[in-house]
Amino acid sequence: KLYNEVQDLKGNIRVYCRIRPFLSGQNGKQTTIEYIGENGELVVINPSKPGKDTHRLFKFNKVFDPAVTQEDVFRDTQPLIRSVLDGYNVCIFAYGQTGSGKTYTMTGPNSSSVVDWGVNYRALNDLFNISQKRNSSFAYEISVQMVEIYNEQVRDLLCNDSYQKRLGIWSTSQPNGLAVPDASLHPVNSTSDVLELMNVGLMNRAVGATALNERSSRSHSILTVHVRGLDLETNAVLRGCLHLVDLAGSERVDRSEVTGDRLREAQHINKSLSALGDVIFALAQKSAHVPYRNSKLTQVLQSSLGGQAKTLMFVQLNPDVESYSETISTLKFAERVS
Ligand code: ADP
Ligand code: MG
Repeated sequence: KLYNEVQDLKGNIRVYCRIRPFLSGQNGKQTTIEYIGENGELVVINPSKPGKDTHRLFKFNKVFDPAVTQEDVFRDTQPLIRSVLDGYNVCIFAYGQTGSGKTYTMTGPNSSSVVDWGVNYRALNDLFNISQKRNSSFAYEISVQMVEIYNEQVRDLLCNDSYQKRLGIWSTSQPNGLAVPDASLHPVNSTSDVLELMNVGLMNRAVGATALNERSSRSHSILTVHVRGLDLETNAVLRGCLHLVDLAGSERVDRSEVTGDRLREAQHINKSLSALGDVIFALAQKSAHVPYRNSKLTQVLQSSLGGQAKTLMFVQLNPDVESYSETISTLKFAERVS
């Protein structure tokens, strides 16, 4: 194995916390972030309630301070991504309240120039580079799928009439029995192929959005990268799969303030995020029963959660004082699974 990393983490689950910077126009705002340690320590405080329940310490595999670049974040993610070429299944997802930087980390900002690229583009770019450079006795094929889960329905974002098409969870058409979302599969040969496809996906995603309802924060989007490596000497085939997930916003919705569609959305999000938390918790505990079947999200991701698979959770935080209680609940979610 060329890209095997040291396995020093229980259950192959790691948690990176990323704090987004204050945005322009937020000058002088108070922060809840008191201290960021070299070894993944994080202390948060509530500056608007001095003296009461002040400091809380959390510990993760890593905490990125607000000044880190997209490249810095990717550098610490790269070994995990490269292990896909060795046949591992990997799942990387971003968890946090709306506005905490999930999409920024996974995809990048809207006006995405190369320096701002998020993990998704960098991962594919890296896989292309490495798979072409790796000695010529291996031939790799890379293909991608992109789906959205909204109100417990899975939708293919790369299929043109996808708005009508509701998908089953997966077909098991892959010869090794690997579960694959039952969505169109697109071979890609370069980063520009990927950029093109992701634009189609983002446009299809917008089709479901109404002006009042910023849907992208209420649905999970999953980019799945399949890698197939053929050893030209022995004819052995290696398969690895990488799920890159931008989760729906984790903020709790005030039940007294929303009704109808908005309440239903909130309940579905709540249910699927707790199902994800339960699965990862069960894996971290090495529990005999892992409750994959409780949500579409965990069913789609099943092949890359547990077993030999490697999981990375980006815990995204908004440093505003106003976000203090969401920050604490995000950190508690993360602490439970790490
Ligand atoms: P989410 O997807 O969690 O709702 P976004 O990724 O859309 O959050 O981020 C909210 C806003 O903050 C966006 O305008 C985004 O460009 C900006 N932002 C998030 N993280 C960073 C960062 N690390 N550096 C600069 N701007 C960021
Ligand atoms: Mg987003």
